[in-house]
Amino acid sequence: MADLIANYKAVRASAALCAIASGRAPEEVKVLAVSKTFPAADIQRLYDAQNVREFAESKAQELEEKAKTLPDDIVWHFIGHLQGNKVRKVVRIARVIHSVDSEELIERLDRIAGEERKHLKILLEVNLSGEENKSGAYPEEIIRLTATCVQSKNLELIGLMTMAPEDANEERLGVIFGTLSDLKTELNRLFELHLTELSMGMSGDYKVAIARGATIVRIGSRIFGERDYGEQADSAQSTRHPCDGDCHSCGTCGGIRE
Ligand SMILES: *Cc1c(COP(=O)(O)O)cnc(C)c1O
Repeated sequence: MADLIANYKAVRASAALCAIASGRAPEEVKVLAVSKTFPAADIQRLYDAQNVREFAESKAQELEEKAKTLPDDIVWHFIGHLQGNKVRKVVRIARVIHSVDSEELIERLDRIAGEERKHLKILLEVNLSGEENKSGAYPEEIIRLTATCVQSKNLELIGLMTMAPEDANEERLGVIFGTLSDLKTELNRLFELHLTELSMGMSGDYKVAIARGATIVRIGSRIFGERDYGEQADSAQSTRHPCDGDCHSCGTCGGIRE
């Protein structure tokens, strides 16, 4: 295992340099550690050695199991596709949900957050890659979804999230991340909101994202190392969806794309 602590420090430093290079303050960019598939012991190490208090998970079950064994003051972010029947589990633990992409989900989150007496921060996930099997709402749906969020009682919309296609070149990444930023500006104008967050950029593309205004970069493998998907990854020809098997539109292949 490469050294987790050194990796974390390196990513933090690199993100800070990217911010400065784009004329931004390093504090404007949060490096969010994506701990999915990695053991709770890794999270505890970062917690102890680097005072990291925020982690992101993409599956309800995994989130629940890890949260049980880890300190209570961790702020959990949920970044995966959220199925209706898992909403309560996630609402009980997570404080921020990045992957909100339907009216039905907003309404369910709001209702359950109320029942659980929780205040939730949410981001709307936007599909800007135009790929049908990607998660996220299409840009033309975002105004309606924002209006629904504004009417909710227990949800606080704080910004937008997107995932870029894995194969996008730098130019296309710049367009995608720039579009998310423009969309946030547009929503703030239309609804007189003060949305601040742009959750965009992962291990492979965070530099472009920071240059385009990312305030949260979601970093997994560059901190924790390569993910091992266990038995689900046994076919050598398969590549995983970025949704990590939580892809709702891909039930038939279990999230594995040939
Ligand atoms: C896994 C995941 C990440 C982190 O991916 P890396 O490439 O390992 O940094 C970021 N965002 C989402 C939504 C993810 O599922």
